[in-house]
Amino acid sequence: MPNFSLQDIQPLPLQGEPLVIAGPCSAETEQQTLDTARALSAIGVKVFRAGIWKPRTMPGGFEGVGDQGLQWLRRVQDEIGMAVATEVATVDHVRAALDAGIDILWVGARTSANPFAMQDIADALNGHDEVTVLVKNPLNPDLSLWLGALQRIRNAGITRLCAVHRGFSSAGSHLYRNDPQWHIPFELRRLVPGMTILCDPSHIGGKREFVAPLSQLALDMGFDGLMIESHCAPDQALSDSAQQVTPEELKTILDRLVVRSGAPIEDELSLLRQQIDDCDHELLAVLARRMSVSREIGRFKKAHNLRVVQPTRYQEVIKARLSEGQSLGLDEEFTQRVMQAIHEESVRQQLNLT
Ligand code: PEP
Ligand code: MN
Repeated sequence: MPNFSLQDIQPLPLQGEPLVIAGPCSAETEQQTLDTARALSAIGVKVFRAGIWKPRTMPGGFEGVGDQGLQWLRRVQDEIGMAVATEVATVDHVRAALDAGIDILWVGARTSANPFAMQDIADALNGHDEVTVLVKNPLNPDLSLWLGALQRIRNAGITRLCAVHRGFSSAGSHLYRNDPQWHIPFELRRLVPGMTILCDPSHIGGKREFVAPLSQLALDMGFDGLMIESHCAPDQALSDSAQQVTPEELKTILDRLVVRSGAPIEDELSLLRQQIDDCDHELLAVLARRMSVSREIGRFKKAHNLRVVQPTRYQEVIKARLSEGQSLGLDEEFTQRVMQAIHEESVRQQLNLT
């Protein structure tokens, strides 16, 4: 079957305003769902999100309330008048959500990384072009995987198709929970200019204090809207507690957002600068990881009464790094200076162990 064109995807009718989708990470009880939805509706949010089937990294945690949550979302539609969105990851989820008349289905980052799961979901959506589907970026920073996931849904006849940028998983500790790698959604925008692309600052930042600055950054970079996690009692939330904001906090965040008109700033220079920023974030995270391993080695040396500086090991390391740097096209003297600075700091850390 030939691929349908991604170019005729309908942008959502946004009338110049950024779309805001907000709601808890998970629907937990009927009361929490309705209270949060009422509070969000009162601050002008028109689309409510809540996960009812939760993909959790470890088994045994809260895995969502399941099908009963669909009835709670129906009450949000009928009694509060909001459109509702939930996450689907299996054919059963899609069928149940479509039967319940859920307006927007989103595919999460763990699912969009899996072409088999995406094809099953697409097949279950076939013929349901009334529904809007959001496809979050896959966990790994692979634009073709994201495009492939969108294409499978498009091939099922869905034209109300949007992408959601939620950042990418990476090892080690970083400022943000998920690395934004902004150049990837920018490239998606270049390839599929007509598609609505939203940003999810909650899952990128992972902490509530990052929601406001990341939301402003996203709008400044030309995203069409935001998906933000909001819970009436974030500290008691059963999932993603640290990144959720109350509806009142969300109101303050939205009130302070500046919606700038004019061309988004995703010109070539900004794109390249974003890549530099991404590289620097990676560099710093790797350096921090290296120092922590180094302190571990320092503790070992101390426990075994070994000298901190072992000249033969140092010579071997420098030699290996210089040749590796050379094969990567790095200037030899530069590699030497960088490696020496890193080594000196390592030694300093090992000598100052507390
Ligand atoms: C969510 O939106 O709650 C969620 C699980 O998102 P993601 O797939 O981006 O991790
Ligand atoms: Mn979440």
